[in-house]
Amino acid sequence: MSADVIDGKAFAAALRAKVAGAAGRFRDLTGRPPGLAVVLVGEDGPSSIYVRSKARATLEAGMNGIVHRLDAHASQDALLDLVASLNADDVIDGILVQLPLPPQIGEAAVIAAVDPTKDVDGFHPVNAGRLATGQTALVPCTPLGCLLLLQNRLGDLSGLDAVVIGRSNIVGKPMAALLLGANCTVTIAHSRTRDLPDVVRRADIVVAAVGRAEMVRGDWIKPGATVIDVGINRVDGKLVGDVAYDEAARTAGAITPVPGGVGPMTIAVLLRNTLFAAHARAGMTAPEGLA
Ligand code: NAD
Repeated sequence: MSADVIDGKAFAAALRAKVAGAAGRFRDLTGRPPGLAVVLVGEDGPSSIYVRSKARATLEAGMNGIVHRLDAHASQDALLDLVASLNADDVIDGILVQLPLPPQIGEAAVIAAVDPTKDVDGFHPVNAGRLATGQTALVPCTPLGCLLLLQNRLGDLSGLDAVVIGRSNIVGKPMAALLLGANCTVTIAHSRTRDLPDVVRRADIVVAAVGRAEMVRGDWIKPGATVIDVGINRVDGKLVGDVAYDEAARTAGAITPVPGGVGPMTIAVLLRNTLFAAHARAGMTAPEGLA
C-alpha cells in the first residue's frame, strides 16, 4: 500500500487565489485593500526569508503589505511603541511580529501588546482563549492550515481519534483545540508521554509538530491513517519532517510531504486571517468559502 500525497502547495495556491478575489471585493467596497504589517527585529537567520515571502505573498493577493525592520539591538520599548502605532493605524488590519525575538525582548509582552482584532498570528491570549472556548477567533496559521488539509482530505472529522505530538502554543495546543472543535477524540502527546509509538498507533489522524527529524516511524502508523507532518528539520542541507516519510507512506492512507505539505499553508492562512480581520474591523461578515 502506498499513501496518497497531500499536496499542500496546490491547496495553498487555490486558497491564495480565493483570498485574492475576496481582497479585491473588499477593496471595491471599502476603497482600500486589507493591510498587513510584518515586523522583523534583526536580520539574521531564516526569519528574514520568512518575512520577505510573507510580504511578497501579501502584495500578490492584492493586499497592502508593509515590512517594518528594527535593529537586532532594539529595545522592548521601541518594539512596543511600533506595535502601538500599528494598533492605532486604521489601514492596518493585521500585525505579525516575526518570532523568535532577540533576548532583550520578552515575547509574551509583545504578543500581549498586539490588538487582538489585528492579531493575525492568533497568539494573543484573548484569541487563544476564544479558540479554547469555541468562540470565533483569529487562529494560528499553521494549525489552521493543517485542519483545512485534513477536512479537504477526510470531510467530516467527527469521532476520529487524533493524536497531536507537540504542545507548543504556536502549533500543538491550537491544533488540539481545532481538532476538538471538529469533534475528534484528541490526545496531546509530548516529550514526557510514555510509550509514544503505542499512543500514535491508535490514531486515525496524526499531527507531528516536534522538530525532531524522522522521529515518527512507519510502524507507529495505523493502516490508513492520515499523517500531517508539521516538522521542518534541516539534515545534511536537506529539509525533512518529523515523520520518516518513506516508511510511513507504506502504511498511511494519506501523508503530507516535507517540503510542499504544511509549509505553504502557513502563508496562505496568514493571508486568509488578514482578510478576515479586515472584514471584522470594517463590521462586515466574513467572506464565505474560506473556512
Ligand atoms: P516547539 O519546540 O515549541 O515544541 C516542540 C514540542 O515537541 C514540545 O511541546 C515538546 O513537548 C515536544 N517534544 C519534544 N521532544 C519530544 C519527543 N521526544 N517526543 C514527543 N514530543 C516531543 O516547536 P513548535 O514551534 O511547535 O514547532 C514544531 C516543529 O514544527 C518544528 O520543526 C518547527 O520548525 C515546525 N513548524 C513548522 C511550521 C510550518 O509552517 N510548516 C510552522 C511552525 C513550526
